Amino acid sequence: MPACSNRVVALLLAASAAALALPKGPALAQTGTGTGMACASSTAVQPLPMPPEGQAASPLPEPAAAVPHTYAHRLRATAAGWPVRDHWCIWIEPPSAEPGTAAATRERQWLEAVQGALAQWGSQLALALVDHPDQAQVRLWRRRPPLQRLADGRTRASHGRAVLQLLQVQRQGRWHVEPRVDVLLSPGQAPRPTQATALHELGHAFGLWGHSDQASDAMAAVPGAQAVIILSPRDRATLQWLLRQGPRLPSAPTPAGIPPAAPAPPSAPRAD
Ligand SMILES: [Zn+2]
Repeated sequence: MPACSNRVVALLLAASAAALALPKGPALAQTGTGTGMACASSTAVQPLPMPPEGQAASPLPEPAAAVPHTYAHRLRATAAGWPVRDHWCIWIEPPSAEPGTAAATRERQWLEAVQGALAQWGSQLALALVDHPDQAQVRLWRRRPPLQRLADGRTRASHGRAVLQLLQVQRQGRWHVEPRVDVLLSPGQAPRPTQATALHELGHAFGLWGHSDQASDAMAAVPGAQAVIILSPRDRATLQWLLRQGPRLPSAPTPAGIPPAAPAPPSAPRAD
């Protein structure tokens, strides 16, 4: 995965799951606990074994040639294929502050910004809100990403970060291969920049692992003076191009890849 230049894509270590309140987004379906085949809870999770370098099971997608009115050529796939789906299950960290407090107001503004960003992507993709992180492929956390330490020893701060893992997930007794993206979104920005950061990081989550070179796009590498809270025509065209690409991640593990009944501890997650 390429790293964001301004909003860093990096490793997320385990974050605790909080419990449950259900925000409603205007363009989002909502599923109840355990209902809906597509958003069932996971009962086991393992990292997806990756082929040794140079031994991919199928030809890796090459960087795309320039496609008019898109930034498709700036996107990168994973070694296992494009990490995209037709249907995403989304979990949002629920509010936790005492009602009526200033902290509760900030949490509500953060939530509304996230919902606004999700509504934009929900016009392009099938999204469903779920009430537990175990059900989700995309999980939004209300916290500032940790400082990233650069190779030269300096550190870099950011308000948003998206972290991709490729997993084997057991749901309702069957194993699936899924991307999981944890999005850390700072509660410390004003509403409009929060919504712009959410829109950008969710673009990564839904498979746009790369950046536009135009500041008017949500996925701009370098944001312009005006925060982008509406998907541009190029953002939408690039996503639609991506959804037509192959190979995607396999839908299920190969038999050899399915973990044994008593799985070994997972290896360390990869930083992307
Ligand atoms: Zn980015």
